[in-house]
Amino acid sequence: MGTATLTIDLDAVAANWRALDALTAADCQTGAVVKADGYGLGAGRVALALAKAGARRFFVAVAEEGAAVRAALGPGPEVCVFSGHMAGDTEMIRDLELTPMLNSVGQLTRHLEALPGHPFGLQLDTGMNRLGMKPTEWGAVRDIALAAGPTLLMSHLACADEPGHPMNAAQLRLFRAMTDEAGVPRSLAATGGILLGPEYHFDLTRPGIGLYGGLPFEAAQPAVRLSLPVVQVRELAEGETVGYGASWAAEAPARIATVSAGYADGLMRSMSNRAVLFAGDIACPLAGRVSMDLLTVDVTHLHEVSETLEILGPRQTVDDLAEAAGTIGYEILTALGHRYARRYTGSGA
Ligand SMILES: *Cc1c(COP(=O)(O)O)cnc(C)c1O
Repeated sequence: MGTATLTIDLDAVAANWRALDALTAADCQTGAVVKADGYGLGAGRVALALAKAGARRFFVAVAEEGAAVRAALGPGPEVCVFSGHMAGDTEMIRDLELTPMLNSVGQLTRHLEALPGHPFGLQLDTGMNRLGMKPTEWGAVRDIALAAGPTLLMSHLACADEPGHPMNAAQLRLFRAMTDEAGVPRSLAATGGILLGPEYHFDLTRPGIGLYGGLPFEAAQPAVRLSLPVVQVRELAEGETVGYGASWAAEAPARIATVSAGYADGLMRSMSNRAVLFAGDIACPLAGRVSMDLLTVDVTHLHEVSETLEILGPRQTVDDLAEAAGTIGYEILTALGHRYARRYTGSGA
């Protein structure tokens, strides 16, 4: 088979959720962020595994993403939408029973007029300047908004992966000032915020990346394994080059394996001549540029070339590969392409 295999360990995802849940007090609920198709791993499958582990509140970026999650979960668990109630979303929000996190006075008005009595939350901007109402806007509508009965007040930290960053304490202070007297459940922390400590936890946390094995949750179990089939192996004489642009040259006689997967599968060109693949425990460096469907790997030092080489797994995490590509684990995961044969393992599969 020329197709690479992406194995998604739903037990690891569930274990990561439980481990993050254990970091907060018993009365603090742990949600689950499954936007961007569950960080590329399949929103429905991941959401179902997390619901079995105990998650009751899920978050997606836009209402359309809520469809797959609702279909997998059925009625009951709350599916919240970060982008709020956008024009044209009303039917979807009603029919799929989504909970929009309203971001502005305009969205609040739209929601209360279109779906009176339908649950909603409110997103407040404490300094990230991306989504939510800023303090002055909040001050103007706070009484009306609270009287309408929001189920959650939330905000998002800009620098939670840097524990010493002064933005964290500043955002916490502002979030408290905006919400302390509201008497409504609150949420501030994503994965990084959970690790900052109890004063950031409030009533609900919203981990995403940590569930999928990524930093800043260092104790996370890896949730993905990506194994690429070797299509061909060739011997090179000293001085021969490999791939587009002839960017790698054999300094001595060499052996090159060509494996199936490339930048069309989310393995970025920036990994060229930098990332490694693994044959068992042995690292094999990329030789030459990543092309659309193929990678070329220096396997000169292997006694025998295996049928597959692994680019993600226990020996190389999404963050290790991200470093080679000059990006972050989030981008490696969400870039994973649609050509892989996907295998789900674990009791939630
Ligand atoms: C993506 C996102 C999260 C999850 O963040 P992680 O860093 O992946 O844990 C939580 N809240 C909001 C508002 C987000 O956009």
